[in-house]
Amino acid sequence: MTLTRFAPSPTGLLHLGHAFAAAQAFGFGPCLLRIEDIDHSRSKPEFTDAIFEDLRWLGFDWLEPVRVQSDHLSDYHNVVADLTERGLTYEDYSSRTGSEDRTRPPTIKLNIANATEGLASLTYQENGQTRTFDPNALPDPTLARRDIGTSYHIAVTHDDALQGITDIVRGKDLAGETPIHVLIQTLMGWPIPHYHHHSLIMESDGKKMSKRRGSQTIASLRESGLSATDILALAKARATN
Ligand code: GLU
Repeated sequence: MTLTRFAPSPTGLLHLGHAFAAAQAFGFGPCLLRIEDIDHSRSKPEFTDAIFEDLRWLGFDWLEPVRVQSDHLSDYHNVVADLTERGLTYEDYSSRTGSEDRTRPPTIKLNIANATEGLASLTYQENGQTRTFDPNALPDPTLARRDIGTSYHIAVTHDDALQGITDIVRGKDLAGETPIHVLIQTLMGWPIPHYHHHSLIMESDGKKMSKRRGSQTIASLRESGLSATDILALAKARATN
């Protein structure tokens, strides 16, 4: 029995790229919906409402309950506290310009040298193949951003473990983050799910679709008269390899 999840961030309206990603995740098997809204500076409740509306209108059904990450920040803080107690993290006060700024909270980073002691290589399954990597070669990942006190890496791996996700179906753009996730899962004793990274939908200029670039939203396509089937077919036709 597999369990996957669709995990959008409510930082804008869903666009054609999300319709394709949702079709991959929901088409895989039983699927949860998770709202990844730890970035309070960019997430908005109206975008969360729009996620529910757009996904329902596209015809996707998710298992309950929906996990809203901003309701569980203490869970993520506890993971970082655990790693800190084990001597695996450090506080980084450097600012973007490279100088020290002790007037603001630090970024908390994983100390790769300490964290990978005795770990020569790690493996995981990606798109049906075994990948092996040297965790020692990773740069020190951010575990808690100074502005939000947590990070995508911690929240996503914690929730995947808590929710018993067996298969992660997500875009290729996140494939490069997977070794960091596998290292965190290993350090925390969490299971390592199977990863499936799907192709992305590109804009006509070859760039990745994004909310920031104002890519065609599902809501605007719906208003222009397209049906859910039309939108999903359009998304599929635009997916690259
Ligand atoms: N919340 C992430 C995003 O919207 C997806 C996280 C994941 O699937 O690992 O890009």
